[in-house]
Amino acid sequence: MFEKVLIANRGEIALRIHRACQEMGIATVAVHSTADSDAMHVRLADESVCIGPAAAAGSYLNGAAIMSAATISGADAIHPGYGFLAENADFAEMVEAHGIVFIGPSPDHIRLMGDKIAAKKAVTEAGIPVVPGSDGPVEDAAAALEAARAIGYPVLVKAAAGGGGRGMSVAQSEDDLKSAFGLARGEAEAAFGSGVVYLEKYLTRPRHIEIQIVADNHGNVVHLGERDCSLQRRHQKAVEEAPSPALNDDSRQRIGHIAVDAVRHLGYRNVGTLEFLYENGEFYFIEMNTRLQVEHPVTEMVCGLDLVREMVRIASGAALAFAQENVRFTGHAIECRINAENPDTFQPSPGRITDYHAPGGLGVRVDSALYSGYTVPSHYDSLISKLIVHGNNRNECIMRLRRALGEYVIGGLETTIALQRRIIAEPDFLNGDYDIHWLEKFVGGGA
Ligand code: ADP
Repeated sequence: MFEKVLIANRGEIALRIHRACQEMGIATVAVHSTADSDAMHVRLADESVCIGPAAAAGSYLNGAAIMSAATISGADAIHPGYGFLAENADFAEMVEAHGIVFIGPSPDHIRLMGDKIAAKKAVTEAGIPVVPGSDGPVEDAAAALEAARAIGYPVLVKAAAGGGGRGMSVAQSEDDLKSAFGLARGEAEAAFGSGVVYLEKYLTRPRHIEIQIVADNHGNVVHLGERDCSLQRRHQKAVEEAPSPALNDDSRQRIGHIAVDAVRHLGYRNVGTLEFLYENGEFYFIEMNTRLQVEHPVTEMVCGLDLVREMVRIASGAALAFAQENVRFTGHAIECRINAENPDTFQPSPGRITDYHAPGGLGVRVDSALYSGYTVPSHYDSLISKLIVHGNNRNECIMRLRRALGEYVIGGLETTIALQRRIIAEPDFLNGDYDIHWLEKFVGGGA
């Protein structure tokens, strides 16, 4: 097992990884920008190294600086968390070239799944159903029009290198498509440095259902069930739950087996998530995330497992300590993402936290690096906390979530807690009756 792990991230996920390592008796090294000297992960880690300026390009995205910190501190492994360099195959390769273990999948798998066109092709060959779409990239507007004729409107233009809901544009008609093509391509070029786009059938009432898998280096692959992440704004998840109110045991088993077979076929290792859209009883793959997801705690709560611990164990060469039949799903879990944003306009609201009181009690978990007196910097993502609640069933879970959201005090800045309270009081949410477009309609499109 490793003696020292460097955490190449910040905020709640850096703290989350530190906690798992500490429980395993592994020392941690925090890296931080100049804006994060007072951050909780820096305070709690065994060692810390300042790696650059506030702007992420010079610090959390600076692979060379992170490698220097790892070398100086003598870390034997690096956990990348999510975001930043977590799905950067070149970084994973650089880590390995230095004789340090990258806690995640192989660089080749990261690269394969980072290209959504190649990913769809690879999983199709592995027996997974995908959203119907263009056969590979579409080079220009004329090729897009031709592909759309075969697919049927509405269609979605998507960036092959996409992520974070960017580089996506819907077209309802041929006229629409000409502008949607230019829009998606332009956004993709600006955001990802690659204007390669492809077309997909735009599904009008799907749910977003994803399957968590864990795979070791010894050929063992296990799925940990699904998460329903249909409540999204601008293609970004806001509330996630497990199990999905839309699946029954049959559909759950079916997609779980399909995912496990495909992952085994691909020779993938460590944790990963296969994302699907689910409509009219059918699953359609959209992408695979080759990292720990923001919403991983809902799976942990219903399975009683620590996914970061599993990642570290797998990366150290250990075999999975459980088989599929040992995985027991208990009760229901819901996560609310809490952002430092105005709950009506979604404008970021960084600043100093004057009062802080986190909810507690049975079945309540708060993954956050906040504390009273902490200043949320303006340089990074606005996610500041995740409230995760577990109950014996969905109803109990929602009652507990309502209670916990009511207790949560984050003073001094605006947060989305008020919006989360409104969402979970809605009859559609209570009935489990929502699709990926529900939240957007509920908030009126937002800012
Ligand atoms: P990203 O990598 O940017 O997160 P995804 O491919 O995972 O992009 O898609 C993000 C979200 O966009 C999905 O959860 C879904 O809400 C929406 N989406 C993606 N593909 C489609 C599609 N073909 N039809 C309808 N909605 C889609």
